[in-house]
Amino acid sequence: MWDEAYDYDGVVEQYGTLKDHHEKFKAGQKIKICPMCGISRLKPSGLKARDAYDHYLAKSLYPFNPINTYNLVPTCHECNSDFKGADDILLKADGTRSAAFYPYSTETYNLVLRYEIRHRSNKALFIHNKDWKPKILCNENDDERVRAWTKTYGIEHRYHEYTNDSELVWLKAIVKNYKIAKRRLTPFDQFKQDYMDQYDSILSGPMDILEKAYAEYILSLDEIQETLDSFLDNGVPE
Ligand SMILES: [Zn+2]
Repeated sequence: MWDEAYDYDGVVEQYGTLKDHHEKFKAGQKIKICPMCGISRLKPSGLKARDAYDHYLAKSLYPFNPINTYNLVPTCHECNSDFKGADDILLKADGTRSAAFYPYSTETYNLVLRYEIRHRSNKALFIHNKDWKPKILCNENDDERVRAWTKTYGIEHRYHEYTNDSELVWLKAIVKNYKIAKRRLTPFDQFKQDYMDQYDSILSGPMDILEKAYAEYILSLDEIQETLDSFLDNGVPE
């Protein structure tokens, strides 16, 4: 019944259509990537098909909420269909209640993604390691709301897999830029600073947040300069 509420003339007259709501959301969102994962690009407005509307609180579990527009979040298909489904973001795995982020909150969160590799036994292993461990902090703390979000949208698993899939491309970009910096006689610490600074202005594309965390980790390694030199001499192992 509630699914049809948006088709009623009175509702459309007062609140507009779901399509209107979707367009307003996208017009107000400067970054054109999925707000739930940062992995995928949202569809441009000119396309006939639009992205899915995620019912943040699943309508099968909270039946009075489908008509609440603040419960609707445009997300990528992977977030909505492949991972979240009807999961309850307000429940922990043990069945107790959890706090969760409110998607339309005006509160500012400082979410930081960092990577670490466990059991790294030698320096060559940071390529094709396949064991990237994302760690996400909110305002520098482990936060129940982060755990609710990452569990519901499969964030850690997806970040792990997408990073495995893209690390070689990202590493080659670092090596290419290092080559240019070396030719210009840029000191290594300056090169690292310049490389990370670029993300201040480009955190707007798919997976930029993952690439930034990857680069931050790689460039923090003690032996990274020698390793990059060896890649310049011998190529990056494929
Ligand atoms: Zn997404």
